[in-house]
Amino acid sequence: MVTPVEGTRGKKAGMKRRVTILGSTGSIGCSTIDLLLRNRDDYEVEALTARNNIDLLIQQSRELRPKFVAVPDPAKYAALKEGLAGTGIEIGCGPAALVEAAERPAEWVMAAIVGAAGLEATMAAVRRGASVAFANKECLVSAGPLMMEAVAAHAATLLPVDSEHNAIFQVFDFDHPESIERVILTASGGPFRSMRREDMARVTPAQAVAHPNWDMGAKISVDSATMMNKGLELIEAHYLFTMPPEKLEILVHPQSIVHSMVAYVDGSVLAQLGTPDMRTPIACALAWPARMSAPSARLDLAKIGALTFEAPDFERFPCLRLAREALQTGGSAPTILNAANEVAVHGFLQESIGFLDIPRVVGMTLDRIPVGPLRTLSDVYEVDRKAREVASQLAELSAAGAR
Ligand code: NAD
Ligand code: MG
Repeated sequence: MVTPVEGTRGKKAGMKRRVTILGSTGSIGCSTIDLLLRNRDDYEVEALTARNNIDLLIQQSRELRPKFVAVPDPAKYAALKEGLAGTGIEIGCGPAALVEAAERPAEWVMAAIVGAAGLEATMAAVRRGASVAFANKECLVSAGPLMMEAVAAHAATLLPVDSEHNAIFQVFDFDHPESIERVILTASGGPFRSMRREDMARVTPAQAVAHPNWDMGAKISVDSATMMNKGLELIEAHYLFTMPPEKLEILVHPQSIVHSMVAYVDGSVLAQLGTPDMRTPIACALAWPARMSAPSARLDLAKIGALTFEAPDFERFPCLRLAREALQTGGSAPTILNAANEVAVHGFLQESIGFLDIPRVVGMTLDRIPVGPLRTLSDVYEVDRKAREVASQLAELSAAGAR
């Protein structure tokens, strides 16, 4: 469970807080940097990492002057070295360099790499007891029990960034978890919320990534369209807040204003609200346990007028059902779910498989791989590898069938 220890890790007066961003060129990385640039006096940057968009990484590094910059691909070294010439910034390349970035002595680490690829670096930050702002949900879905064990063993502070989990974090009574009856995760429903299932067969990646409320990376945007995103978030909430599956609910709320809710035994329901802008939850995690100003548009409920809610449709969005089943099964089932989904979403974005093949590939991968316990990270890596292999074969069959 997230265990906020008031005051122990907050910014001390007059001291700059040292931060690292894993995945600095992505949507979450850029929003984090936007906040840092507006608060230059309060923060200094230890390390930045990115895989894509080396030009942006160079620009960010020149602006923020981190001590260390890392990329996983050694082929990018020359471009990075040239772009950072004369700055004195150290450069690291290869997967070990990402781990080194996470191990460097920043008090606060933003884990914003997309996918299970971020697991090792995020775990490295947790293992040195840092405050880790958790955007990368795939890490938690893939290795939840081991991640939470490491958080406890190394007294790390886990700060949820995903807007729903950050909302829950803000209204969750950590001192009296027994008084919590239900946790209600809200979902926008994505761009195909009211589309008939037969029409979904023809949707394109461009349509799927055009989210009505949020501007996000391609992978999470497709996950929002299939609603696998909400399924992954259900699993994420289970680990973060130690909530049994039957106490976790999903509620579709197309306006994305109520970011989630916690229902208590006395009938009270506490919610966190705000306009859909990730800079609000990131600011909450960045300044925690204090508050900092964020430039997000202010909520004007009179102007919005009406907030609406509806039950999720598990038939039209089978990814929701697959994720709930994987959560209930436990063990390595969420690891298989996540890896198969990453492969299927990649195939869809490459236009080699269709939108409806995503749940098909994930479901068949889950059917084919026996679920076992996750004792060590090696188990996670092995299950992840196997699930990717099976999902890739299934995706290839779907692609061949469509040709
Ligand atoms: P993105 O695709 O925009 O950015 C991902 C970042 O990770 C980039 O810097 C990229 O270069 C880097 N990266 C990608 N693959 C990598 C790899 N194999 N190794 C190392 N680095 C790699 O993604 P995003 O939208 O910023 O999302 C990041 C994470 O935050 C995801 O797990 C997502 O689910 C989660 N999240 C995002 C949002 C959002 O609004 N964007 C909201 C909630 C949660
Ligand atoms: Mg979310």
